[in-house]
Amino acid sequence: MELHEPPPQLHRAAPVPVRRSPERRQRGGAAWQQAAGTWTLVHEAFHLRHWRFRRNDAKVLCQTIVYFTDAMRLGATEQQANELYPYALALYRQVTQPYPWYRDPACIVPPWILPPRP
Ligand SMILES: [Zn+2]
Repeated sequence: MELHEPPPQLHRAAPVPVRRSPERRQRGGAAWQQAAGTWTLVHEAFHLRHWRFRRNDAKVLCQTIVYFTDAMRLGATEQQANELYPYALALYRQVTQPYPWYRDPACIVPPWILPPRP
């Protein structure tokens, strides 16, 4: 299968801020940056995995969104993973909306679950 050239943002590493305050460094960066870092890690991991669709970005993007919260759970609580999931949904849409060939029509994107009321 011939693949289209991926959009540049798809493989760009998560941005690293040049200057960060000690407080922000301690928190590990902004939430969207944590989500983007996890997103990139999961995405590239599925490209490296030995499976049939490793070179198919639509399938890899689907796996990225499906396994995003599972990957987050390697170093975060379920609540933290759920809080960052909307950023993952935004990243998914950022690629699949302008480039429809990156959307796998068979992909079932997990919904974001509203956090319980305090
Ligand atoms: Zn990719």
